[in-house]
Amino acid sequence: MSIVVQKYGGTSVADPERISRVADRIVATRRAGNDVVVVVSAMGHTTDELIELAHAVNPDPPGREMDMLLTAGERISMALMAMAIQARGVEAVSFTGSQAGILTDASHGSAKIQEIRGTRVTDALQAGKVVIVAGFQGVDPQGKEVTTLGRGGSDATAVALAAALKASVCEIYTDVDGVFTADPRIVGNARKLDEISFEEMLELAASGAGVLMSRSVEFGRRFNIPIHVRSSFNDNPGTWVKEQTMEQAIISGVAHDRSEAKVTVRHVPDRPGVAASLFTPLAEADIDVDMIVQNVSSDGHTDISFTVAKDAADRARAIAEKVAAELEAGEVDVDEGIAKVSLVGAGMKSHPGVAAKVFQALAAAGINVEMISTSTIRISCVIREDRVEEAVRVLHDAFELGEVPA
Ligand code: ASP
Ligand code: MG
Repeated sequence: MSIVVQKYGGTSVADPERISRVADRIVATRRAGNDVVVVVSAMGHTTDELIELAHAVNPDPPGREMDMLLTAGERISMALMAMAIQARGVEAVSFTGSQAGILTDASHGSAKIQEIRGTRVTDALQAGKVVIVAGFQGVDPQGKEVTTLGRGGSDATAVALAAALKASVCEIYTDVDGVFTADPRIVGNARKLDEISFEEMLELAASGAGVLMSRSVEFGRRFNIPIHVRSSFNDNPGTWVKEQTMEQAIISGVAHDRSEAKVTVRHVPDRPGVAASLFTPLAEADIDVDMIVQNVSSDGHTDISFTVAKDAADRARAIAEKVAAELEAGEVDVDEGIAKVSLVGAGMKSHPGVAAKVFQALAAAGINVEMISTSTIRISCVIREDRVEEAVRVLHDAFELGEVPA
C-alpha cells in the first residue's frame, strides 16, 4: 500500500463544515486503498489570535510559554479532525508533534526538525488507522520541551513526515488552486503553474510567495518527495513541485515581500573587519540578514545597508547602534517603508539580458530601485513599499507571464 501525506492549512479547517468536508476527502483517499497521514494547521486565524493574546499579557512573551500556547492551536484541529473521520466510520487517531516523534533542536519559535522517529505513526497505520498529526510542532529531546517550527511550519511537518515515511506524494491542501506566476489578488491574469522545480519554488518561497514554507521545499528537494499544492475546495489538479519538470520556462514567476525593513549605518570607516564587526553580533543574536549593500566609499567612509525581518528591526537597530558607537560611525536609521520584488526562473542562467529587462521595466514605470540582490535564478529589488503591487504587475507584463486571452 502506498502512503499518502496530506496537509490541510488553516482556512481548510476553519470551521466544522470545512473540517467535515476535509474529513470526506480523507476518508475517500483511505477507501481508495491508501495509508493516509494527515497534517493539520490550527483552525482559521487561531495562531494569530493566540499571539495577540500572549502580547496582551506580556509585551515580550518567553519562547517556551509561547510554544506551549501556539501548539494548542494544532491540538484542537487534530482532535476535531480525528473525531470527524471516526464519525464517518473510519478509524483515526491524532498525535501531537511530540507523540509523532518529531524531534527538533531547542530554538523556541523557529525549531528545526532533526529527526523523525515515527513508530507510533507507523504502528497506527499498520493497525489500519488514519493518522492525524499536529502541524508546526515537535519536541526537543534533550530539554524535553515542546517547540514550534516557525510560521507556516505545518508544511515542513508534512514534507518531513512524507520523507520519513517514504510516502509516494505529499499533498498540500490550501485555499488557492496551486502556485501562480504572481499573487492572483494583485495580478488579474496570473497563471497557475502545472509544475515547477524544487529549485525555483525554493527561491519563490524565500522571496515571499506564501503558498509554501521554504523549509518544506528544502525537505522535498533533499529527499526527492514530489509536493502537490492544490485546493481543498475543489478537485482540480494543482501545481506539482518536483525535481524535473517537462516544460522549461525562462521565467516562472514574480514574488513580493513586505515583511522586511532596511537598516542603514551611515559614515562607517572603510577598513578591513568593519563588516564583520557589524554582522557577527547580528548573527549571534539570531537575526537573519537578507540583502546587504555597501556603498562606494568617499573620504574613507561608507554607508552600509541591510535588510532584516520587520519584527527583528528593533533588535537589529540596537545592535547596529552599539557597533556604530564603537566604530565611531554615524547614525543608524531603520526604514520600514520598503518591499522586495523578485523575479524567479531557471532559464535566467542561460538567457542574458533578464536583469536589464527588469531594470528597464521598473524604470519605465518610474519605480526607483534601492537595493539589488541576485542568485543564478533570481533577481530581487528593494523598492518603496507603496509601489510594490505596481512593480509586480509591471514585471509580470514585461515577461509576459500571464494567461493568454483565448
Ligand atoms: N498554525 C501555524 C501558523 O499559522 C502553522 C501553520 O499554519 O503552518 O503559522
Ligand atoms: Mg501556510
